[in-house]
Amino acid sequence: MEERCLLLIVIFSCFVVFCQSSPGDRDPLYRNCVQNCEKTGCVNDWCFSSCNFAINGGSSELSKAKCPYDVWMEWDCTSECRYQCMNLRESERQKDGQHPIKYHGKWPFKRVLGLQEPFSVVFSVANLVTHLYGLTSFLNLLHVALPKRPQGKRGPYYEYGFLWTVFGLASLNSWVWSAVFHARDTVVTERADYTSAVGLLGVSLIVSIIRTCSLRIEATQVMVAAPVIAFVSTHILYLNFYDFDYGWNMKVCVTLGILQLLLWLVWAGFTHHPSRSKLLFVVLAGAMSMLLEIFDFSPLWGCLDAHALWHAFTVPLTWVWWSFIKDDTSFRTSQLLNRAQQTEEPKKSK
Ligand SMILES: [Zn+2]
Repeated sequence: MEERCLLLIVIFSCFVVFCQSSPGDRDPLYRNCVQNCEKTGCVNDWCFSSCNFAINGGSSELSKAKCPYDVWMEWDCTSECRYQCMNLRESERQKDGQHPIKYHGKWPFKRVLGLQEPFSVVFSVANLVTHLYGLTSFLNLLHVALPKRPQGKRGPYYEYGFLWTVFGLASLNSWVWSAVFHARDTVVTERADYTSAVGLLGVSLIVSIIRTCSLRIEATQVMVAAPVIAFVSTHILYLNFYDFDYGWNMKVCVTLGILQLLLWLVWAGFTHHPSRSKLLFVVLAGAMSMLLEIFDFSPLWGCLDAHALWHAFTVPLTWVWWSFIKDDTSFRTSQLLNRAQQTEEPKKSK
């Protein structure tokens, strides 16, 4: 129930970052710290190479050497000041026995090797690798291991191979951008992450409709896919070129996610598919994993938050989901092969 995962994943990705005002950035001490840092390039005795005027002015011996990696990661003066002031305020608040609060819509994470949310990056990569294995083993099963149609018709028996391949590629794309976005939250990486997540939700919805309704005729598949593609494309264009409306995007993501969730649930309830237990497992476990997003908590040790755990949770679900897809491929192929052999036998007996 990668599907589910994906759904959930995407749904959650849609919630992930809201660059709205948060308690942390409304704190006057934090605001003063950032304003002062942007003027001087320093927080207390620590000055930043990204604030060129501080270096040029030689106001501190503690200025860091300009690091190409930081430049590449777009750690500019403002973002560096915000990060350092956040750390300063959080250490002061901790001494006063206060709990962590959010800044600019995010928990106060500790950077590791320049990565903003290191655990979310690691688990995004784990999801990426799991999808990569799932997709390649699926393609191997479909095109190498399982028997092909007899000459003339060509290709595998399984009718949904192309759809699952597109789904796998969309998943890989989505997890790449998830890792990049969690490594460094900028306008570009955020939009790429959101866009790829919505795209994946659209692909997942198309796959869920076509598979659960057993739409095997290509023309019918296209008729189902076209309106979904049109809607998702329009939504992506709206977000990127008109209004990046987080609230509206969330509603779209939740709607797309719930629709496919319900389709799979209803199908799992009626079908006699031999692997429907895997399907149900992913749907239900995926739904439970949403609790991690609902009960959002501040990062443990400054880097492990509920969202990162949710990404960790989807790794085994992704594994089971691809297992279900491969079971479905084998199951449908054996069904179609038996049917083909049954129709061949009477011809031979004649
Ligand atoms: Zn994420």
